[in-house]
Amino acid sequence: QPVVGVLALQGDVAEHLQAFERLGVPARTVRGPRELAAVDGLVLPGGESTTMTRLLETFELFEPLRQRLREGMPAYGSCAGMVLLADSVLDDRTDVEGSPGVRTLGALDVVVRRNAFGRQVDSFEAELDVAGIEGPPMHAVFIRAPIVEKTGADVAVLAEVRGRPVRGSAEGDGTGTIVAVRQGPVLATAFHPELANGDDRVHRLFVRMIRDNDDGRAREATPARAE
Ligand code: GLN
Repeated sequence: QPVVGVLALQGDVAEHLQAFERLGVPARTVRGPRELAAVDGLVLPGGESTTMTRLLETFELFEPLRQRLREGMPAYGSCAGMVLLADSVLDDRTDVEGSPGVRTLGALDVVVRRNAFGRQVDSFEAELDVAGIEGPPMHAVFIRAPIVEKTGADVAVLAEVRGRPVRGSAEGDGTGTIVAVRQGPVLATAFHPELANGDDRVHRLFVRMIRDNDDGRAREATPARAE
């Protein structure tokens, strides 16, 4: 059974822990490098990416985390977590790269725009089909959510909402706005499945990704299958 870590510097940590508890998967909080070294995969929760940036640096976790991601540790970021995992971030109003106070980990080849739905629709909920998630659409909760503006060639788009929320965009209606992506062992959603009434399908997908991961750590205890 892999051990899942939840980055516990700020944000909706408890809700993620509860999701893994419901799934019967051991999960623990990660606040420092030693705790990070002991997990097979890490959730970066929703919250505030500027605050988490500052705390990652204070707790001397930024570099160790970047290193483990580089080595292929599975990670799942929801909302602020998606922002942190990105290669690059745009602020809500400008197309200048970088957002004051946010340092990204560069684990996902995407450009993310923070707070992209703007003030009028700060928060909303939608029924969303997510590739790789079986069954009925997910009830997706968006709270001051980011969007994915650009994806690299190795990034799979898992979900889109209709219409384009970004101010000043001339790209017209009806185009999809990307709100969930996966690149190898890294998964990110702009919404918060941990706030979706006990629908743990995204968390289950992430656990499967950790089990399938071939950095070796999660498999050490598994006897090799003879085929
Ligand atoms: N707007 C927040 C950020 O950019 C994310 C909000 C959230 O995680 N619900 O960090």
